[in-house]
Amino acid sequence: MKPRKVSQHVNQNEGLIFEKSSPGKKAYKLPPLDVPDVNPEKLLGEQAREDLGLMPEVSEIEIIRHFTRLSTWNYAIDLGMYPLGSCTMKYNARVNEFVARLEGLGNAHPYQPEKISQGALRIIKTLQECLCEITGMDTITLQPAAGAHGEFTGILLMRAYHESRGNPRKKLIIPDSAHGTNPATAAICGYEIVNLKSNAEGMVDASLLASVVDDSVAGMMLTNPSTIGVFEKEIHRIADVLHDKGALLYMDGANMNALVGKARPGDFGVDVMHLNLHKTFSTPHGGGGPGSGPVACKKILERFLPTPVLTTRTDGKLGFEYNRPQSIGRVRAFYGNFGMFVRALAYIFANGPDGLRQTTEDAVLNANYIRKKLEGIYDLPYKTGSMHEVVFSDRLQTQNGVRTGDIAKRLIDYGFHPYTTSFPLIVPGALMIEPTESESKEELDLFIDAMKSIAREVQDDPQLVVSAPHNTRVARMDETTAARKPILRWRPEQKAVAAPAVKPELVETR
Ligand SMILES: *Cc1c(COP(=O)(O)O)cnc(C)c1O
Repeated sequence: MKPRKVSQHVNQNEGLIFEKSSPGKKAYKLPPLDVPDVNPEKLLGEQAREDLGLMPEVSEIEIIRHFTRLSTWNYAIDLGMYPLGSCTMKYNARVNEFVARLEGLGNAHPYQPEKISQGALRIIKTLQECLCEITGMDTITLQPAAGAHGEFTGILLMRAYHESRGNPRKKLIIPDSAHGTNPATAAICGYEIVNLKSNAEGMVDASLLASVVDDSVAGMMLTNPSTIGVFEKEIHRIADVLHDKGALLYMDGANMNALVGKARPGDFGVDVMHLNLHKTFSTPHGGGGPGSGPVACKKILERFLPTPVLTTRTDGKLGFEYNRPQSIGRVRAFYGNFGMFVRALAYIFANGPDGLRQTTEDAVLNANYIRKKLEGIYDLPYKTGSMHEVVFSDRLQTQNGVRTGDIAKRLIDYGFHPYTTSFPLIVPGALMIEPTESESKEELDLFIDAMKSIAREVQDDPQLVVSAPHNTRVARMDETTAARKPILRWRPEQKAVAAPAVKPELVETR
């Protein structure tokens, strides 16, 4: 397979919009003023700005080209497969966007009175009911703004529960196959972390767990399916072991795309869990965009839920209740990311129960199709059946000096977003691939061909792979510095970033 051309405008009209600026150029034309010309200071007083700062002065076509060009330097699910494992980068149907933009929903304001918000509140209520049904839990809060924020909220609920019984307890047990946010959450909530080693199948060993649970343990945070895409076979026993000692089971439900319509955490012993609407429930994410991490729990935790809680008043109207003395308090302004609720509910309704089940089956089938086709070409460290994602290792490729990060970069040349690299940590040199249900067999086959082709390149010409990508505007960035010292603002004294050397001809000739 030849790398397919990604449409990136690599070397045309480089340069930033400020460099194109020239005094007096405008991107707009206004008609003559037909109202009194009021001095802004009169209107705004001290708040009127004298100096507008440095603004680029460009024509309309220059600004249009600028933003359009920037948009081609990126990758999106709308361009192709985005197999970023653990992130569930599924396609977000346009109909969800349409519904979220309906005037009454898109323009709703959190300060508008309950009386005229009944429709919006009904959406919240209905989504809560759907998510409780899907997870098998009793109640839910939609407030948390992300998965990690949901974890934080859930563990605060657990803590409040133990405190109400006279002892907050000290420890949280976290298996080595957990998502990285789990130990971070436990630490931020003040818990000591007990790390539990997975067995050879990559699962939690219930007997080993029993040996570490005592009455100093508040609970366990379990990612299920785990980060290697494996369902915890002993989940019932795990829950029993914890409950016997008065500890609770938290489930990181960010991977619910593998379970929806098939298995309900509430039925297999989970006490509290979060969902990622921006993964499983098809609301757009990436680039730090709006998230939503609802926390569902059993009755025993209900009185601790964040305020306000949505209730049905005596007259049948919906409203928010603030007076909840045992609540952990607010975890976010207002009621959560409402726009995400609308999209998630649209997704649930558009699919219906059978559609959601089919979605889960397709997501699992797609991951296993990739697994079957690439097994042997890439090393598969855990042979346990895969759920919604498959995790290979780069063991076979490292013999030629090529690592998972290199293969991921080369994949960009083939027109795909990379898979997740070097995670989970229990697989050294991991290639974590999650195709989601969105992809057709044709797209999966193209991806598989690309992966096979890269494996051949690793043998014939490893240098080609370790120097990839060859047809993007920037190649290998210093990710650490980018994260530690991000440049978020253009400043006049800053020189234009030099256009990196690009070799577009590589794309055509290979
Ligand atoms: C994505 C993810 C999280 C964190 O969710 P955010 O919304 O990014 O905070 C937690 N656990 C698992 C298993 C995940 O995949």
